[in-house]
Amino acid sequence: NVRVRFAPSPTGGLHLGGVRTVLFNYLFARKNNGTFVLRIEDTDQGRYVPGAEEYIFDCLDWCGLTPDESLRKEGEYAPYRQSERKAIYKDYVERLLEQGHAYYAFDTPEELEKMRTDLKTPENPNPQYDAKVRGHMRNSLTLSEEETRALVLGGTPYVVRIKVPENETVTFTDIIRGEISNDTNLVDDKVLLKGDGMPTYHLAVVVDDYLMKITHAFRGEEWLPSAPIHILLWRYFGWEKDMPKWAHLPLILKPDGNGKLSKRDGDRLGFPVFAMDWKDPKSGEVTVGFREHGFLPEAFVNLLALLGWNPGTEQEIFSLEELGEIFSLERVHKGGAKFDYEKAKWFNHQHIQRADNDRLATLALPFYQKENINPDKAHLAKVIGMVKERVHLLSELPAQSRFFFEAPQTLDLDAFKSKWNEQKTAFFQTWMTQLDNTDLNHEALELSFGNLATEMGIKKGELMLPLRIMLVGGKFGPHVFDIVEMIGKEATKERIQFALS
Ligand code: GLU
Repeated sequence: NVRVRFAPSPTGGLHLGGVRTVLFNYLFARKNNGTFVLRIEDTDQGRYVPGAEEYIFDCLDWCGLTPDESLRKEGEYAPYRQSERKAIYKDYVERLLEQGHAYYAFDTPEELEKMRTDLKTPENPNPQYDAKVRGHMRNSLTLSEEETRALVLGGTPYVVRIKVPENETVTFTDIIRGEISNDTNLVDDKVLLKGDGMPTYHLAVVVDDYLMKITHAFRGEEWLPSAPIHILLWRYFGWEKDMPKWAHLPLILKPDGNGKLSKRDGDRLGFPVFAMDWKDPKSGEVTVGFREHGFLPEAFVNLLALLGWNPGTEQEIFSLEELGEIFSLERVHKGGAKFDYEKAKWFNHQHIQRADNDRLATLALPFYQKENINPDKAHLAKVIGMVKERVHLLSELPAQSRFFFEAPQTLDLDAFKSKWNEQKTAFFQTWMTQLDNTDLNHEALELSFGNLATEMGIKKGELMLPLRIMLVGGKFGPHVFDIVEMIGKEATKERIQFALS
């Protein structure tokens, strides 16, 4: 029975790379009739940010990637928040200590700092904690058993560190990258249990993946350096045969391919990097998300799926359901995936065309309200149906359709001024009177317009642009007689009158 997990730390907004990890977990679970677990990894209390946990749930809801098990929908393996599992980890630390796979370390922050400065060289900017070689470290490997016990019982602050073996190679097979080996001499004796009694991520992730019976663990490539620690812990606990199969997902790169995509790239180039708006509770600073930029969730999910995975065909537009049927880890790429915002907007455009107009009206309403347009939902749905082929983002809809709700503020009269004459003024005056006896549908309207033009000996083509500008303000918008039909005879007459005056 396939069980996968997304295990975020609630430290802020969710970057699109995080959502892609969720998506691949979700799709893999769907494809294999498995279970998708959401576990909150909040053992680092110093980095805990209020609201971040809520945000993660809201985000997954918006994307339609709802977990099968989580703290909001508990399964057999509760609790699903690590800070509530503190007591569980304690036993496992004891076990490692007893077996000599972990040790107490009493070094003070000052001592650690001194070690770092003493050992720092340009080649080695982050010296490791090596219990044995650096004899001046204070831990249960350098102190006698009595001394250690006395310090622990005496209340001296300590942490527990993993004892990484010397001169060994730790090897594991990554589903995407194949065999990966690490020289243990380059692996730090990481802290497993902190002074506050909380486990670190390294211990908690292994214990929980084991207890929650996780079969496949997918996470970003940035976690590769931690893998040897985790592999060693699986081995030390004697759980190797239950170890999940690992897949480290490729990074999402800057548009130019030069390094990992960051929030700052988005700020600089004007596109979102977070899934939804994130307001930092400390600074109050808001980072705009894809949702607020005007993306549909299905488009966001579709474009994320193709960042680092391909379907093996030319097809690009997929629903979440379709993706769940065809997703396979074999088609996940090793190399990083460049983020292309123009392409992202193209996906959104495609999904907007496919989406139901009533639903679009609901989703787009906030963008209209922001522009002080408060349309009726049913009316808005019709309007959106008429202009949606012109937009890539829901946020572009108000500008493309404002004229349906109010007369344009400015008219680009210069666009036809040079070709204007008295006869054309007369044409529009006559047409306005004829409007009263014309049916309000675009065919009848166009017919009366064309007939009158012929009668007066004016080319219809020379009158169309002026009519458009009178109604809309500029050279844009859908078919002009559709606009007349939509705004009605009175508004049409008022706008022509205003333009002629
Ligand atoms: N808590 C880690 C994070 O914040 C999870 C990494 C993993 O999936 O092992 O991304």
